[in-house]
Amino acid sequence: MSGFQGLFIPGPTNMPFAVRQAMDIPLEDQRAPDFPQFSLPLFQDLKKAFKTEKGQVFIFPSSGTGGWEAAITNTLSPNDKVLIAVFGQFSHLWADLCQRKGLNVDIMQVEWGEGFPLELAAQKLEADKKHEIKAVLVCHNETTTGVTSDVAGVRKVLNAANHPAMLMVDGISSIASIDFRMDEWGVDVAVAGSQKGFMLPTGLAIVAVSQKALEAHKTAKLPRCFFDFADMIRTNKDGFFPYTPATTLMRGLRASLDMLFAEGLENVFARHNRLAEGVRKGVAAWGLSLCAKEPKWHSDTVSAILIPKGFNSDDLVKIAYYRYKMSLGVGLNKIAGRAFRIGHLGSFNEIMALQALAGVEMALMDVGVPIEAGSGVAAAQQHFRKSAPQIQLAKVA
Ligand SMILES: *Cc1c(COP(=O)(O)O)cnc(C)c1O
Repeated sequence: MSGFQGLFIPGPTNMPFAVRQAMDIPLEDQRAPDFPQFSLPLFQDLKKAFKTEKGQVFIFPSSGTGGWEAAITNTLSPNDKVLIAVFGQFSHLWADLCQRKGLNVDIMQVEWGEGFPLELAAQKLEADKKHEIKAVLVCHNETTTGVTSDVAGVRKVLNAANHPAMLMVDGISSIASIDFRMDEWGVDVAVAGSQKGFMLPTGLAIVAVSQKALEAHKTAKLPRCFFDFADMIRTNKDGFFPYTPATTLMRGLRASLDMLFAEGLENVFARHNRLAEGVRKGVAAWGLSLCAKEPKWHSDTVSAILIPKGFNSDDLVKIAYYRYKMSLGVGLNKIAGRAFRIGHLGSFNEIMALQALAGVEMALMDVGVPIEAGSGVAAAQQHFRKSAPQIQLAKVA
């Protein structure tokens, strides 16, 4: 194939050359005496990506799902009550994992397209005078629907109710792309994965844990082995691991963190907002709607776009894949066939966003959705011309 198969899904994301090169190295000895000189600073720098100084970060060789499992099995006991909102496939799967692990799961079913229900959660926490709820679980960025929830708001609700429950966050498609502040928001466990904002292959679950959660870990009785924090704590302090770490991915992670810090985290967030806003302008110009029902829930990492009635979004995704060599995200579960997704996170820029919009336009027209060719691209171009960083040109004499 000429050129590249376009990757416009919300994960895995596009891998920068610098990250790929950092991993194109001979395999190394994970027990080498100088390995800690690499691993200890990596742990320290990861904390910056979560904006935590007080917390501890663990790196598991696993996909993000393992991070969910690590979060709950290390901090909770069988039959403990947890409060979670389900508004998409990922929040649904985390709730399902909690049930299968033997927790008492109080699920707040929320309409897909909306975010975490702060008022309902506030009522439940207020009513829970005996403090039976041990943890509140929040999917920061629901990748199914392109909805970002207000984690700081959940912290406020917990504080207002004077409730001691831990706050756990799935930040797999937000951390390192959308502002996330572990310490400031009082998050006790935050889960990230390597293949989204960190621009790496799948294979690392990165879990940041507060001192309060580490304290809970001491008495938590859910069975655990592979994901046990205790084994990590014992070995990580000297820069080593209880079993073979994914050293290659960790070398890539070093490069990815270096890139994120060189750009500056706040600039990374601003870039994601700019690109997402351009995509949203394009969607509006087509006359289509986002799955996210209100602007306050708009995700800066992924847009889920509803296809008009009478059309099948799976057809569109298939056409885009075969005819135009681009991968889009399909609609999952409740919105299968009704929505498609454009991932615009990680190593992503204006021209890539325009490519995605141009390809989607062709595929939309191919399935028969009446849009005007170039309308979405033009709307995004205008936004990018206004918002892309200015450069200083030398004066011509
Ligand atoms: C991708 C994703 C997951 C699942 O992670 P895996 O790496 O596929 O196990 C969980 N939650 C969210 C919000 C995600 O975007």
